[in-house]
Amino acid sequence: MSRIALLVPFAALLQLAVGQEKNPGYTDTPVLPDGFRVHGANRPRPAVVDPGPGPKTPSKPPADATVLFDGSNLDAWQGRKGEAKWKLVDGAMEVTRTGDIRTKQQFGDCQLHIEWMAPPPKGHSQGRGNSGVFFFGRYEVQVLDSFENPTYADGQAAALYGQKPPLLNVTRPPGQWNVYDIVFIAPRFKDDGTVASPARVTVVHNGVVVQLDEALLGPTAHKSLPKYKAHGPKGSIKLQDHGNPMRFRNIWIRPVNLERPKAKPAK
Ligand code: MG
Repeated sequence: MSRIALLVPFAALLQLAVGQEKNPGYTDTPVLPDGFRVHGANRPRPAVVDPGPGPKTPSKPPADATVLFDGSNLDAWQGRKGEAKWKLVDGAMEVTRTGDIRTKQQFGDCQLHIEWMAPPPKGHSQGRGNSGVFFFGRYEVQVLDSFENPTYADGQAAALYGQKPPLLNVTRPPGQWNVYDIVFIAPRFKDDGTVASPARVTVVHNGVVVQLDEALLGPTAHKSLPKYKAHGPKGSIKLQDHGNPMRFRNIWIRPVNLERPKAKPAK
C-alpha cells in the first residue's frame, strides 16, 4: 500500500476523532413531509451569499416597538428560575452557561429585530456558535455560526430548526453583527386542540429574505417529527444557552396586526 493510501483512512479517522464529519447530519431520522430527513446529511445546503459588512452601531427601533434589550440591563428577561444571569459586555448580552432566558412579557403575532455575534471559531457544526430565538418558547429560528461551518441544512443559521433550511446562507463571519428581522404569525387552534392554522415565519437575515411566510409543522424538535400541542395566543421569546458565548444586542419587538379597516359599501 502506498503511503498516501495509508494516510487517507488515517485522515478519516482523525476527522472522526475530533467529531468533524464531512457531511454532518443524519441518515436514520424520520422523513419530513417535503421528503427530506430531519437533519438529513444529504439535504443540499443553501448557497452562500456575502451580505456585506455588519452594522457598526445598532439601528433605532420604530416608535411602536417594545425594547427588549438596549444594552443597559436584562430587566425584560428572566432565567429558568428567577433572574436572567447572562453577562453585559460592550452594549451586548452574552450567554454564560446559566441556562436559557426568556422575556417576562408575552407576545402573539409579532415582528422581532435581534442582532447576534459569534465568538472566534471554536468547535464545528452544531457545536460552534449555537444559540436560538424561540417564539412561544418552542418555535426556534436557529442562531448558529454558519460562516464556513458546514452543518445539516435544517440546522444552520436562520433555519426553522429541523424543518426548513434558509433559502441562502448569508451569515457574517465571527466578530461581525448578524441581523435578524423575523415576522412570526402564531398558530391558531380549534376548541378541540387541533390546528386551525399553523405558525408562519418570515426571516430577513442581514437584509436578505431567507424564509418567506413558511408554515411550521409544529414546535421545532431535535431528530424527531414536529407535533403541535395547543397553546394560548401569546408566549415568551426565549434565547437559547447552547454553551457557546454568543452575544445579542438591539432587541425589539412590535405587534403585527393583520386586521385592516373594512370598506364601507361604495355609494
Ligand atoms: Mg440552537
